[in-house]
Amino acid sequence: MEDCLFCKIIKGEVPSNKVYEDEDIYAFYDINPAAPIHILVIPKKHIASVADLTAADEPLIGKIYTAINKIAEEKGFKKDGFRIINNCGKNGGQEVMHLHFHVLAGKQLGEKIV
Ligand code: 5GP
Ligand code: ZN
Repeated sequence: MEDCLFCKIIKGEVPSNKVYEDEDIYAFYDINPAAPIHILVIPKKHIASVADLTAADEPLIGKIYTAINKIAEEKGFKKDGFRIINNCGKNGGQEVMHLHFHVLAGKQLGEKIV
């Protein structure tokens, strides 16, 4: 999508610090980390948010979680654990309207809401 920041990152039009890439998924370090390790995992296909998912996207979401598992292994934070966060829409606090999963790791995470 033309005016989407994360689509531009996928295309390399906006620089990013890549963590992982495959045919469907791109992952990179968040520019404003909320933990010692803060990675954003996104589909290459432009989907605005979880609210825009359809049944056709079900395999893609499964792949995203498998990719997160691989990243956790490769980056060495699998054993100690991590948190996956998805903000959806206005009340969820979503700022970039391209589906993304925050992966936070590297310390005991506080501020549990649920
Ligand atoms: P949201 O608030 O939409 O769930 O999360 C958007 C995330 O994107 C924020 O954590 C923010 O720091 C990150 N972000 C925004 N712009 C950029 C950018 O240009 N590059 C990178 N790497 N992260 C970004
Ligand atoms: Zn996009």
